Amino acid sequence: MSRSAAAKPIFDITPFTILDFTGYLACIAWFAKCNMRCPYCYNPHIVLGEGSIDTDELLSFLHSRVGRLEGVVLSGGECTLYPELHNLCRDIKELGFKVKIDTNGSRPDTLRVLAEEKLIDCVALDFKAPLPLFKATTRCDLYDKTLQSLRFLIQSGINFEVRTTVHTDLLNENAINSIVDILSNENYNGTYYLQNYLHAEKTLGDMQQSSKTLNKELLSDKIRVEFRR
Ligand code: SF4
Repeated sequence: MSRSAAAKPIFDITPFTILDFTGYLACIAWFAKCNMRCPYCYNPHIVLGEGSIDTDELLSFLHSRVGRLEGVVLSGGECTLYPELHNLCRDIKELGFKVKIDTNGSRPDTLRVLAEEKLIDCVALDFKAPLPLFKATTRCDLYDKTLQSLRFLIQSGINFEVRTTVHTDLLNENAINSIVDILSNENYNGTYYLQNYLHAEKTLGDMQQSSKTLNKELLSDKIRVEFRR
């Protein structure tokens, strides 16, 4: 069945980025819908809205970019909620593009299928919060799934990174150090990226600018931690 007959899962396409897929000229497909409700989320229109682009349209766009782009970032929202993701990744790979998945980690089984079929080249895993703060940070109970995704990615050998968006009303230095402990205990040997929340006009939970910034002096040095932006 042509997937053009299926629902339109993609909210928007960013045709060009040099920032979101390290080492590759890429585009971004933003998938509508998410199973988390992080109050600082600056994409409420994507999380709560409907897609308007089907996968055939994305593939048609990619056809026109063969030889000009090198990679495709599947982001959102939460792209792993899309049930045909493995077929889409296969089609993208057949066009010769590298595939990166941005995920909140809630679908470890999907990551496993994609990895086993060698359909993904890179993953960015958002590790939202340690267990005691996970519900307040995401408004959901998917901590165990995130941990499963982390464990799977570590043993898979896939190129991946772990990152956390920091709004200091939700996560302080102790919370970040708890995540560092988890990553260290799980033998994560990559860089742990922290992204300070930047105030956006509209967020899911109407969050204001963080009332303070993290004190870098208080952060653990058990693993390599870097700030982005
Ligand atoms: S920030 Fe949270 S709510 Fe927004 S897309 Fe990411 S996981 Fe979903």
